[in-house]
Amino acid sequence: MTVSDTGKPGALPDPATEIRMTTLHATRGANYWSRRPVTRVDVIVGAYDDISSAHVPGVTAALVGAMPSLIEHRCSIGERGGFIIRLRRGTYIPHIVEHVALELQTLIGHDVGYGRTRGGDVPGEYTIVFEHMHEEVGIRAAALALDVVQRAFAGTLDSVEPALAELRALAAHPQAAPLKAHVLCGITGGAWRAETRTELASRGFGVDDDLVVDVAPGYILQAGLPYSRSDAAIVLDDQPTDVPERYRDPERASRLVSVVADGVRSGGLLVAPAKSWDVQDRARDAGCRVAVFATDANITARDKKVAGAAAWVEDGRIVLEHVDGVVDGGAVRDDVAPTVQVAAALCVFGVEALRPDQHPGRGSARALEHVSTHGVG
Ligand SMILES: [Zn+2]
Repeated sequence: MTVSDTGKPGALPDPATEIRMTTLHATRGANYWSRRPVTRVDVIVGAYDDISSAHVPGVTAALVGAMPSLIEHRCSIGERGGFIIRLRRGTYIPHIVEHVALELQTLIGHDVGYGRTRGGDVPGEYTIVFEHMHEEVGIRAAALALDVVQRAFAGTLDSVEPALAELRALAAHPQAAPLKAHVLCGITGGAWRAETRTELASRGFGVDDDLVVDVAPGYILQAGLPYSRSDAAIVLDDQPTDVPERYRDPERASRLVSVVADGVRSGGLLVAPAKSWDVQDRARDAGCRVAVFATDANITARDKKVAGAAAWVEDGRIVLEHVDGVVDGGAVRDDVAPTVQVAAALCVFGVEALRPDQHPGRGSARALEHVSTHGVG
């Protein structure tokens, strides 16, 4: 231990080398943490896992001296000055980096406030996320905030003006535009995404200028959605295969794949597997209409309670159901997985049938037309 009983540091490890950044990126659309764009920075803090702001004299004074406006941060205490109280009582470097990154952006006039710090896979590893208005500013603010905090712990912080000058210069240049094209449908899940996109295309979906976007869960985790809004989205399963172990536990996995629901416009459609109730609930909370599919006949009462439309397989045929009744979706073929066929058929059917501004009868007729024209049977 490097800290004596009196709270005075012995030989503190050099914060500049002890604390390392391992991941740094910005998300554009809805993401695992927030519906707003965030910057994510992962750090390994080494010996500073046990050394708080209260252990090192002068840290709080240096940070508040350089950024008096930190007094506005309410933090978990919930009142003005809350974060400064946390600094005095003793809080740890990742949490301080989160607040400094937000404050650096606030000081250049960006209206940001959302931030979170969480432990990572191993002790001493942390994930910090915070809101940004401009992604280059967010990414640079992460690195500059870490530098400011390292210098506060090293006793060498005097001013944040150079950091602010740099961020202002970045903010003066427009950021790369997000994907503005009309996105009809996003597709995620651990398997069959590309096949589902092909199947939708064969049903006349995602041709012309409408995009159908295959979004791998690992991409969502790293970058968030690559578009801002879609009309519909399909979650093929809640078992992402391309993400670190901790994001495969059921709660995190369903939260991750459900990010596509955050991108669906209000009243748009989210197609989810039967019995994936967490995904269904999140979609409903995001303002989506929900449609539920199964590759057998096993759609439960709980599924039907949430769903405005459903699809299942009975006697080798796809059955499509919504409020107007039950419709034949054609025979299940051998050339591609039933999941792909049922989910795609339901998506095409549901987008038409659940269109809120459309006469209900006409909606189902158009959906059927798609199904028969493109030869599912
Ligand atoms: Zn806080």
